[in-house]
Formats: sequence, structure tokens, C-alpha cells
Amino acid sequence: ATPTSIMVGTGRAAELGILFRQGEALQSLKEVGIVALDKTGTLTKGRPDLTDFVVAPGFSETDVLKLVAAVESRSEHPIAEAIVEAAKRKGIPLATTESFDAVPGFGVSATVEGRKVDVGADRFMTKLGYSVAEFVTTAERLALEGKSPLYAAIDGRLAAIIAVADPIKPSTPQAIAALHALGLKVAMVTGDNSKTAKAIARQIGIDEVVAEVLPDGKVDTVKRLRDKFGKIAFVGDGINDAPALAEADIGLAIGTGTDIAIESADVVLMSGDLRGVVNAIALSKATIRNIR
Ligand code: ADP
Ligand code: MG
Repeated sequence: ATPTSIMVGTGRAAELGILFRQGEALQSLKEVGIVALDKTGTLTKGRPDLTDFVVAPGFSETDVLKLVAAVESRSEHPIAEAIVEAAKRKGIPLATTESFDAVPGFGVSATVEGRKVDVGADRFMTKLGYSVAEFVTTAERLALEGKSPLYAAIDGRLAAIIAVADPIKPSTPQAIAALHALGLKVAMVTGDNSKTAKAIARQIGIDEVVAEVLPDGKVDTVKRLRDKFGKIAFVGDGINDAPALAEADIGLAIGTGTDIAIESADVVLMSGDLRGVVNAIALSKATIRNIR
């Protein structure tokens, strides 16, 4: 590749809101066989809403939501914001918490008004020794609707199942169709529930789903997908996407995402619109054609 063709290519990319932090990425992007995308904040808006709240017998929704929102007010996870927002909408005042603890990829715990509160994924409840059996049917229904089921336990008893749903970005289905038209495989990588991830994947035409990935498991996922499908591009926005962005042959960060993701990436997409990924690959192909 000539320096001139790279300059023309990166210049054209910049006009499209695609920043190549490395000229080499413009050349290697065309060789990619699979594009793997983080779900939350990349395929979806990253702003979930609380959609369902089902309490176990003997618990009141208002009481449980008050305790759960208090714990979540200490967390920065998008799920936490959705729950705090729902409590606010209902006019529930925020209680104060003690001994807050977050377990990344699992959930959060704290003491609220003398009561022990745990909120998180089914694997968090299992880890703490609580059974989620009574909510299995509800959880399945919610997951099939593309919602993420969470559980709340109070003083060691399962108190509620809570669902949040994160809207898919309007441009996502089109971007996936365009990647398929370029002959690429498309994968989703997420820490979310496996059934939820599969339901969303089905809606938007994703080929491969890797779900319930722990925060430090994304690098291994990138390696496994590369073994199976060849050169890999990874697209993400979060702190826990940074190692996967670095591990991938090409890392593409969403410019509205976290600084650490941007710093770990080869390419930065100025907007969250995933058609930027398609444009970046198309430009790579066009640049190479001009050279030969
Ligand atoms: P993702 O970014 O894909 O959601 P995370 O590793 O951040 O992945 O979280 C994985 C799962 O852990 C979430 O889907 C949720 O079930 C649970 N979890 C994490 N943080 C919280 C929280 N603050 N409140 C409730 N559940 C949480
Ligand atoms: Mg994300």
C-alpha cells in the first residue's frame, strides 16, 4: 500500500466519522472474517428500562423496589440506573446503604435499613446459595421477550424477579445485514443471560452468540472466535471491552464510549451508528483496490 492511498483512505474515513488511529488497520480490516460486537451500548442503546417486577409471596413491590433501588444507587451499571429511575418515577425516596459491595459480572449487595439486600444475575443468587427455582418459568418468559431477568434477595430470601430491556439501536439490523452482504460472520459477546442474548440475536440476525461471559472472559472469546472464523474485528464501548479490543486483529471503539475502550482500539467510530463498522470495512477494500 502506498502512503498516498492510505492518506486518501483515512481522509475519506474521517469525513465519514471513522478515525483510524493506525494506518495499518485500514489495510488489514479487509481481511477480517468475523465481526464480534459487545451487546450493551454497542448493539443496543445501553440505556435499559425496568419493564417487569414480580415479587414472591409475602413481599410488597414498593418495599422491595425501595431496598433494591437503594443498593443500585451505589452502582454505575446501566441496569442500576434503570432501577433507580423506576423508583424515582414511583416517588419512592432513596434509602441509605451500608457496606456496599459490587461483584463484576454478577451483581451487587448492601445493607439497607438493617436488611441484607442482594441484586443480580441468576449466577449471583446461585453463588450466594439462594435457589431461583420458583422464578424459572417467569425468567424464561422474560428472556424469550429479549428482556434481562435479575433477582433480588432480602435477608437471604428470594424476594423478586426484575426485568430490564435495553432497546436495540435503530441502525443495528441494517448494519448486520450489510456485514452479511460483505460475506462476514457476525457475533454477539455479552455478560447477559444466555436466553435473553439468543432472543435478541434472533431478532437482529446475529450468527453466533457468546453469552454469560464474565468481565475478564472477553479476550478468551475473541481468541476462540478467531480460531474458528479467522481474522477478527471486535466492536465495543465499555471498560471491560478494552482487553478484547486490544486482543482482536482490529479493535473498533464507539467514540461515545469509555476512554479506556477508545485508547485500546485501532479505529474509533465517532457516532454509535454501527454502519460505521460497515463503512470502515468497505473503505479498507476500496483503498486496497486503488493500490493494485
Ligand atoms: P454486560 O455489560 O453484558 O451487562 P456485565 O458483566 O456488566 O455484562 O454484567 C453481567 C450481568 O451481571 C448483568 O447482565 C446482570 O445480570 C449482572 N449485574 C452486573 N451488575 C449488576 C448490577 N449493578 N445490578 C444488577 N445486576 C448486575
Ligand atoms: Mg457495552
